[in-house]
Amino acid sequence: MGGRAGYRQGMTAVCAYPSRPRLIVDLDALRANYRLMAARSGAAATGAAIKANAYGLGLEQVAPVLREAGCTSFFCANAAEGVQARRVLGPAAEILVLDGVCAETVALMRREALTPVLNTHEQIALWREAAADTPAALHVDTGMNRLGLPWRDFDAAALEGLELSLVMSHLACASDPGHALNARQLQRFRSIAAAFPGVRASLASSAGILHGADFHFDLTRPGIALYGGAPLDAGGPALAAVARIEAPVLQVRTLKAGEGVGYGADFVAPRDMAVAILALGYADGLPRSASPAGFARFAGQRAAIAGRVSMDLSAFDASGLDPAPRPGDSFTVLGDDLEALAKAAGTVSYEVLTGLGARLERVYEGRHS
Ligand SMILES: *Cc1c(COP(=O)(O)O)cnc(C)c1O
Repeated sequence: MGGRAGYRQGMTAVCAYPSRPRLIVDLDALRANYRLMAARSGAAATGAAIKANAYGLGLEQVAPVLREAGCTSFFCANAAEGVQARRVLGPAAEILVLDGVCAETVALMRREALTPVLNTHEQIALWREAAADTPAALHVDTGMNRLGLPWRDFDAAALEGLELSLVMSHLACASDPGHALNARQLQRFRSIAAAFPGVRASLASSAGILHGADFHFDLTRPGIALYGGAPLDAGGPALAAVARIEAPVLQVRTLKAGEGVGYGADFVAPRDMAVAILALGYADGLPRSASPAGFARFAGQRAAIAGRVSMDLSAFDASGLDPAPRPGDSFTVLGDDLEALAKAAGTVSYEVLTGLGARLERVYEGRHS
């Protein structure tokens, strides 16, 4: 027995700190961002895009908080996501499936009371045949040339016999309020929506909401802003940080000037210096492209990435940090730096969030619903 206890004690002494990076999702911040987007949506109802596992942050925990904050319309990408959302949200929620319906999913969509966003004449025909008595939404493409019926040859008669609950379109350039396409899409959507009196209309995602009341119609569809990402290329309201990674220091290395760090020795120490080796790599969602411009924080101070990000590990310049980081301490990645880090990695916050690794231990703080 004594031997056992001693063994345990020994283990504790060797490994007294966690070596697994944690993703901390702040549910209070999520709630605050939803309320801000709802306030900015004016008289329109405020839905939520919860596709891709709620932008990587966890549909199961995120969706109930949004519902509790007042959201009743949820947008998923496909039927499988819709089924998951139905399970989490229960029967009362309106769950819309952006990629519509196909022969393989039509029975499932009906059974789960998922609302397809019909994008093509084929989808319209399929739904009319299989489920004309069940509400469907319609996507009209007003200039993005992605999903939806093209606005140019749009004829409302194509929808006869269907129970439409929503007509929507999506802005291609909303992150740039000065882009001329925004006004053109708005004008086209206005005439489309006018062809469906009594049917709710929806145009604005996070960025569109910030363009003002003309863009709000009856229902808005924010996504990224709820999760703390900036909708506009520049400016916009201050959103609360929802996601941050706490990555533990595994080792601290002291480098002599001229020594390299990591694969390829890409980073060469310009002087004698210290680097902290973190248990965080591209398998956790720290993009490989975050080197060399990326950074993390230690006790609020910026620490630059040093060398290539590898699968499980990354190195950060620890010289000048006060206090000096030690094994078992944690560096913070993302948080208020989400946009800056995405930019440093040559990508956008959407891709960083949805790329967060399955290996991260997910911790939900703040009030759960
Ligand atoms: C993803 C998506 C949204 C949400 O967009 P954000 O930029 O994340 O706010 C809204 N509408 C459609 C059609 C989408 O695909």
